[in-house]
Amino acid sequence: MTASNDESELFPTLAAHSEADSGGSSTAPGKDDADEWQRMAAREEFEPRTDQGEFLEAIAIEACNAPASEPVTLTPTEQLVAATDKVRRVWGHDSLRPQQEDAMAAFLSGQDVLLVLPTGGGKSLCYQAPALVRPGLTLVVSPLISLMKDQVDGLLQSGVRAGMFASTQDPEEQALVQRQLNRGELDLLYCSPERLTLPGFVPRLVQAGLSAIAVDEAHCISHWGHDFRPDYRELGDLRQHAPGVPMMAVTATAPPRVREDIAAQLNLQQPVQLVGDFDRPNLTYRAQPRGRLLTQILAVIQRHSKEAGIIYALRRTDTEDLARDLAKAGIRVGAYHAGLRAAKRKEVQEDFLAERLDVVVATVAFGMGIDRSDVRFVIHASLPKGIEQYSQETGRAGRDGLAAECVLFYGGSDHHTWKRLMERSAEEAAATGLENAKEELNDALKRLGQMWGLAASATCRHRTLVEHFGGAYSDHHESPGCGACDVCLGELETLDDAVVVAQKILSCVVRCDQRYGAAHVTDVLRGAKTQRMRDTDHDKLSTYGLLKELSARELRGLIDQLIAQGHLGVASGEFPTLFLTQSGARIMKAEDEVTLLRPKRPAASSKRKALQIALDDTPVAQDLFELLRKKRRKLAAEREIPPYLIANDRTLTHLAAHHPKTEGELLATPGIGEKKALDLGPIWLKIIRDWLSTQTDS
Ligand SMILES: [Zn+2]
Repeated sequence: MTASNDESELFPTLAAHSEADSGGSSTAPGKDDADEWQRMAAREEFEPRTDQGEFLEAIAIEACNAPASEPVTLTPTEQLVAATDKVRRVWGHDSLRPQQEDAMAAFLSGQDVLLVLPTGGGKSLCYQAPALVRPGLTLVVSPLISLMKDQVDGLLQSGVRAGMFASTQDPEEQALVQRQLNRGELDLLYCSPERLTLPGFVPRLVQAGLSAIAVDEAHCISHWGHDFRPDYRELGDLRQHAPGVPMMAVTATAPPRVREDIAAQLNLQQPVQLVGDFDRPNLTYRAQPRGRLLTQILAVIQRHSKEAGIIYALRRTDTEDLARDLAKAGIRVGAYHAGLRAAKRKEVQEDFLAERLDVVVATVAFGMGIDRSDVRFVIHASLPKGIEQYSQETGRAGRDGLAAECVLFYGGSDHHTWKRLMERSAEEAAATGLENAKEELNDALKRLGQMWGLAASATCRHRTLVEHFGGAYSDHHESPGCGACDVCLGELETLDDAVVVAQKILSCVVRCDQRYGAAHVTDVLRGAKTQRMRDTDHDKLSTYGLLKELSARELRGLIDQLIAQGHLGVASGEFPTLFLTQSGARIMKAEDEVTLLRPKRPAASSKRKALQIALDDTPVAQDLFELLRKKRRKLAAEREIPPYLIANDRTLTHLAAHHPKTEGELLATPGIGEKKALDLGPIWLKIIRDWLSTQTDS
């Protein structure tokens, strides 16, 4: 085998390949900024398909140079024990969660695995730790370069033999990885899907000792997911090129239908399916009708002074306007959307990761690869288009396991905006001859309806989320309330006379001939003295002024709830007129019950205790925590990596609570393995020692 032969064969194929694909995007970019689907927005960070010159050299791995693997002497059970030991020594975790252990056991015994764990649930460990005990190379497919780089940097910090191939690397870096591969010096190799689909690449990795494959963010392969990437589809061929190599597909978000699709598309062989507990008990969810948005947002930020947060807005202009207003209020904030120059986006992202910015106001383009683990709040300034998207975006809060807050501000207009966008994009798709446009529209509307239900109904938010992903909430929790959402915390007031109020609203909709929208119905019920009331003669209706004791905002909130519960419908088309549904008619006839909520006061300032007490309830010395945090920022800047790769908040909190004095005590800290104890241990110990001395002096 010679490289030049392969190059001459590969070049024409490659050229045809990239051309064929460049025009084949499945969704046209939306004309409207709001139609900024995630996958399109993040596009520029994806691995480009061109410039493969240096790469061809990199894959010229001599077959005879296959790594001198250790002889396979360990049984799968022994390997699992060894992997658990690695988890402790390399990553500093004392124990595995049940699904992690099951996933590793199955993977090490050579089975295919489909692993669905929530963000922060320790997914990557499930293929990383086995890679260290399994002979040969584990290949990891990852969708974004930034994501790969962070993972590899983190692994290197912990002393793991990991590398990556990316177009952003200079020739020297690529040559180094190639040498390491040739010598069998890598346990983990990260690649983009685009790289893998190059003809000849995987077979050569097989020759070089490929023994396992992990596909990260596997939902990208599914058309039903919200992050579909056509490039992922080609991963189906992996199985063909690497027969007998066990494959693990991991994702944080996959309802049953997407799971099935992942298994089918990747050709997983009777995969062991493991679905984690989707409940994130450290997240407190709140949903409130949108009023004075800036005031509402500032109230949330006040509860998290100087802490990290992300605010999602629908439109690009919204992100910039909001960021400007927040900056005026003294917040260290940046705006991020796909319309910004790549350099500007990179700057905002890096400033946020390096803790130079506390808050980023962003469109959904700010997504994968934002790996800051100490995000303490995520705010949605409007309704997301589905629960999956909401779950993934809120999943960026509290990844360190400490308390964090997710607040959703919504309005009926959001629902209508999305519906219009979806209908329009379906019309366009149908016009271009796409066969299943109608089906996709129904699917999208169903997802939107579920999200709307989550926002505007009176059911525990944790329960709704867990059940959406096919989990059974009651199985894990004995008490009816979660204690971590506005519904269960009693921050929303149940209306005593809900049925009567609902009847007044529904009756008003009927008396307006079901030809007016929520704003008009609100005006009628509040007895607005406007020209429009007089023009329509609606000031003469029996329902005029019937609910004048409520504020317009409260009333709109109630109408939204009736829509969310299906008692009122909203017409399709240009005007979102309200109409009575069958269940609404039953309520009017007093044949059915209804529950309506309204916010009590502004959410009681339940100042979280996350940083005052560690996870084991030991008090945390806040000043020591700040000292450690400052040092972490400095170290991160010196090493040019994000601070959380030095140590996450959970580690620092533990240090600031337990004040370890020896290396042995240090190793009991979550997130500090042997390499990190050696590398950073003396630094932490010195800070703690110095701090302790000031404590005894005083
Ligand atoms: Zn709850």
